[in-house]
Amino acid sequence: MVRLRARLARSQGSLGKGLLALLSRDKVDEEAWEDIETTLITADVGVTPTQELVERLRTRIRVEGVGGEQARQILREELIELVNPALDRSLKVSRKEAQPAVVLVVGVNGTGKTTTVGKLARVLVAEDKHVVLGAADTFRAAAADQLQTWGERVGVRTVRGAEGGDPASIAFDSVKQGIEEEADVVIVDTAGRLHTKTGLMDELGKVKRVIEKSAEVDEVLLVIDATTGQNGLTQARVFAEVIDVTGLVLTKLDGTAKGGIVIAVQRELGVPVKLVGLGEGPDDLAPFDPEQFVDALLD
Ligand code: GDP
Repeated sequence: MVRLRARLARSQGSLGKGLLALLSRDKVDEEAWEDIETTLITADVGVTPTQELVERLRTRIRVEGVGGEQARQILREELIELVNPALDRSLKVSRKEAQPAVVLVVGVNGTGKTTTVGKLARVLVAEDKHVVLGAADTFRAAAADQLQTWGERVGVRTVRGAEGGDPASIAFDSVKQGIEEEADVVIVDTAGRLHTKTGLMDELGKVKRVIEKSAEVDEVLLVIDATTGQNGLTQARVFAEVIDVTGLVLTKLDGTAKGGIVIAVQRELGVPVKLVGLGEGPDDLAPFDPEQFVDALLD
């Protein structure tokens, strides 16, 4: 968690500092409010949340500027509110009724799905959970190898099929394996082919239905690359329309100063950000904590 702050602070500081500087002016005039809006929109906060935040700040700060510490406090409170601390961000990763929990990881190719599956497996193994991985991303030739490498690194089994095999049958086999091994969690990596909405719906729908023949799907985590901004958000929306997403994973937050995307995606999709990716390494996955996130912005 200390690392979350350090990592984010390195790339995100500019947003919080920029806002603080604007709010701490002697006089927060129309021009300053416009600058505040621009700063937020540039940081990918999204138009509606930006307008709401500015409205709330305006009523609290009005024309006269406030001192640095007071401005920081107000900004901190309002940003935390915007990230909605009341949402349930816990991961459903416990066995129930003699069945492993099943986590489906979906999203556009290249967003960091496979890496997220590997990192998540590591987190769960560190919690003494028995994990099985399913390599159902049969679209990208190297994806199964990549996942298996993660599996070996973390010390868990990876179930994979023949090259170009059917993703649904691999998903089914991985869950079957998880049941046989009495695993706590089966994490299934999927392909992020965004060819057509119907195609995606058919494919993910089939994967889910086939899993549900033997176990319940507890989490559908949608992976979004934070560096792709509004474009990533548009793609994510398509996924959220075709499958019931239970949580968002925002990857590559270490590589962007536009941390505002956290606010935008959560708002747009109506689903909590549960995890954030902060680098390519095995330990670079953290639970998302609104207060720590905002503190990192303001650091
Ligand atoms: P997939 O196609 O969605 O499975 O994506 P991959 O897991 O193969 O990731 C694509 C690239 O993004 C790889 O080079 C990863 O190392 C990199 N990546 C994934 N997550 C993160 C992250 O949180 N931060 C950074 N900087 N890179 C990441």
